[in-house]
Amino acid sequence: MKKLLLATSLFVSCLTPLVNAQEVNVYSARKEELIKPLLDEFETAQKVKVNLITGKADALISRIASEGQFSPADLILTTDVGRLQRAKEMNLLSAVDSEFLQNKIAANLRDEEGYWFALTLRARPVMYHPERVKVEELGSILDLADAKWKGRICIRSSNNIYNQSMVAAMITKFGEEKVQTWANGFVKNFARPPKGGDRDQIKAVVAGQCDVAIANTYYLAGMLADTDSENQAIASQLKVYWPDQDASGAHVNISGAAVLKHAPNSATALSLMEFLASESSQKWYAENNHEYPVVAGVATSELLQTFGDFKAEDVPLQQVGELNAAAIKLMDKAGWK
Ligand code: FE
Repeated sequence: MKKLLLATSLFVSCLTPLVNAQEVNVYSARKEELIKPLLDEFETAQKVKVNLITGKADALISRIASEGQFSPADLILTTDVGRLQRAKEMNLLSAVDSEFLQNKIAANLRDEEGYWFALTLRARPVMYHPERVKVEELGSILDLADAKWKGRICIRSSNNIYNQSMVAAMITKFGEEKVQTWANGFVKNFARPPKGGDRDQIKAVVAGQCDVAIANTYYLAGMLADTDSENQAIASQLKVYWPDQDASGAHVNISGAAVLKHAPNSATALSLMEFLASESSQKWYAENNHEYPVVAGVATSELLQTFGDFKAEDVPLQQVGELNAAAIKLMDKAGWK
């Protein structure tokens, strides 16, 4: 009996590390329904238990920081580059050396030291009402500071990280001085004090409160694909305009992932990240989340193709993250609420 007990306890202790290695803890700023099906697929294929915690990016980052070396978090998923860079600067991330990710993901879409990687591209173009705006009236994004747009622009608040990243990218493309001048004029053209999310800006254009909006394409695509026919009817009235096509290209942000510094299951976290950059996952993101693949050669969804091809800006996203504070200051100075 004693022998058997000993044998059992040996067996258990041998097994324990193996059991631990077969799970991975994901802290996700992506909403559960926008990532869970992919995680389920990974779970089944790799026989790994995926534990998912979702929340706002900043709350997840603070939680990881306060959990410190005891944090169970292996992988963090965010929906913008600003937060990934913030986590890097807080020394919460671990650099990974993955030939697979380096080959699949273009250099400007990942941290140069391997701290984070983009998994999808999210474009933020101009959307307009074709009955009130002629496409010829639209030019560079910088032209939206022109007084002819007074009272005609809807965009969400400067607290929003998508706008912060957009302005940060503009700083790298046009220089701080030029962007400050632009922001000063742009804010004067707002139809209303910023409120709501991207979908609300789209709705406001259709409701006649403004003529153009700046919003991420997946919101428009999501409304077009919505089972709610009212949303479909609203979204179908807007057209997408890609600014700066002869020059620096339209603004894009990313959703991305990073392995945490104290990840108890870092190897599994890395294989999950590689799985999310695989062709099948990239296709799933395009079809279901209406985001653009980061991996070359993966087709975008039919719905996204209706918005037309575009030239994306070629800005190192790391710089966009690093310029976040400068962007916030600039928007504040311009009176962008
Ligand atoms: Fe979003």
